Amino acid sequence: MARFFEESEVEPVLIVDRRVAVIGYGSQGSAQALNLRDSGAKVVVGLRPDSPRIQTAGAAGLDVMPIHEAIEGADYIVLTVPDAAMPAVFEEHIHGRLWDHQVLVFAHGYNIHYGRIHPPENVDVVLVAPKGPGPALRSEFVSGRGLVAVIAVHQDASGRAMDRAVAYAHGIGSLRVGAYLATFREETETDLFSEQAVLCGGIPELVKAGFETLVAAGYQPESAYIECLHETKAIVDLMVARGLTGMRESISSTAEWGGYVAGKKIVDDGVRHRMQEVLAAVQNGSFAAEWNAEADAGMSELVSHRSKDASSEIESVGEAMRRRIFGHTRKHP
Ligand code: NDP
Ligand code: MG
Repeated sequence: MARFFEESEVEPVLIVDRRVAVIGYGSQGSAQALNLRDSGAKVVVGLRPDSPRIQTAGAAGLDVMPIHEAIEGADYIVLTVPDAAMPAVFEEHIHGRLWDHQVLVFAHGYNIHYGRIHPPENVDVVLVAPKGPGPALRSEFVSGRGLVAVIAVHQDASGRAMDRAVAYAHGIGSLRVGAYLATFREETETDLFSEQAVLCGGIPELVKAGFETLVAAGYQPESAYIECLHETKAIVDLMVARGLTGMRESISSTAEWGGYVAGKKIVDDGVRHRMQEVLAAVQNGSFAAEWNAEADAGMSELVSHRSKDASSEIESVGEAMRRRIFGHTRKHP
């Protein structure tokens, strides 16, 4: 059973009135900065001089400064720039300027686990990885809840790294719902595997394949969109709230029966075998090597995947359908 931390274990003094330098103000950075500020930390935001987010962070009432100034005297330094950009940002602005016992906080284990960042020995290196996007981390916090987070310690220079990581997780609101102990390796490998095989790879491709199968068989694209994409939300919400069994209690017995029989044909041993290959590529570093090379080369293949998928039929039909259903195009209700 995973070790979950409780609010009663938090030492507030480790986060309240502590200086936290949040580097980057994107999805995670903005949410973490605001949650920490509302939890009583003294938050400063470190951005590059030409950042379009200087204005946004300033308007939210946060102190914004160049990265090397933000980290000066900070108790916590939180790296919330994209993983691909992080090693260069760390080398240029942070490494060599760190004080004894500052805490380096990562939101994902990637750069430590794959050896792309080597912090000096005089700092704590911890992971507080929220399991969800920044906007959800913020909106949950504002509603009095939080997102689950994974906590790990890579390096304990101060002797207090674990307590400081737990206090940080409290600051972003994750102890309200559950923060549990793992390792950088476990968080990195399970996170990459699940986003590739299930969340961001498997599910979208399954949706696309279902949509394309129906359209190719002559059905209206609107029907295919509603049946294969729009309805996923209700099913996923049920699974998250009530598990697979609870979801099945809410659907018709026809859907339940068809799901058992056809589901195992669609996700067969071949799929499971390829999942193992995906996991192996994550574990042996070959996925990371491929992605690092793509990022270093300017991400042209990523951009080409993005535009190819954006111009596919499910997207044009979907845009019109969402405008009809939600009254706007991109925002989720
Ligand atoms: P974002 O892409 O949203 O970060 C954007 C911010 O990073 C901007 O402020 C941007 O600067 C800054 N930035 C980008 N490149 C550079 C650079 N070369 N030099 C200086 N600043 C730079 O990142 P995310 O929030 O998506 O990810 C941050 C971390 O959080 C990652 O480790 C990620 O794995 C982790 N994470 C992300 C989740 C998510 O849902 N997004 C979920 C859980 C963890 P500017 O303002 O100048 O454009
Ligand atoms: Mg992920």
